[in-house]
Amino acid sequence: MTAKKTGLSINADRLWSDLEELARIGGAEPGRRRGISRLAFTPEDMAGRRWLLVKMREAGLSACMDGVGNVFGRYEGAPSCIRGSGDADSPAIMLGSHIDTVPEGGRFDGALGVLGALECVRTLRESGITLKHPLEVAAFANEEGTRILPGTFGSRAFVGGLSRDEEERLRPVLEQAGISGEPRRLKDREIASYLELHIEQGGVLDAFGDDIGVVTGIVGIRSFTVKFLGMANHAGTTRSALMR
Ligand SMILES: [Zn+2]
Repeated sequence: MTAKKTGLSINADRLWSDLEELARIGGAEPGRRRGISRLAFTPEDMAGRRWLLVKMREAGLSACMDGVGNVFGRYEGAPSCIRGSGDADSPAIMLGSHIDTVPEGGRFDGALGVLGALECVRTLRESGITLKHPLEVAAFANEEGTRILPGTFGSRAFVGGLSRDEEERLRPVLEQAGISGEPRRLKDREIASYLELHIEQGGVLDAFGDDIGVVTGIVGIRSFTVKFLGMANHAGTTRSALMR
């Protein structure tokens, strides 16, 4: 049974109220802070992650936080004996995004992808629909990288893309945030596909009056640490050879 055949629609009011509730964690404080500030692994970010775990469990998902702060919630698919295929359980469809923010960030960046996914799972569950594939809702840690460079930390950990150096550098930060254990690593054929709903940040859809678009390309971001060796002296007239 698919959503298309049943004409399912999500509970938009409930999704809106979830977005508002999450936005209050690290939210604006008049005269002190605008926007939302849940920088990676700060008490606000961790409070947001714990809030999400509760929401996932309330929605009937089995949920956990892994050893790098990624939060996963799983809604099981129909077992193979019911599907009649006789083969192993199907790989999961993963939906999600991130819930950490930049300083004084927006309330929808990342949060919409995670809470929109959660609302989809709730809708299916309440309608008594079990899919062939399990659905997983993911909130990856330190996507933004504004407090601790580089970003996309949690998703890179998931696909085995962290260097040992980065793992060791982050370990004290994770411990201080109360995160322990091993990161969950993506296994072979564990995930069938990944889908992320994200607010538009370029303003193009808005300018054309379109509600939604499909991403066909994405900006590539690289971060470097650069050390300059030398000493202060008069700009422009001092010879480099004399600066030893
Ligand atoms: Zn984002």
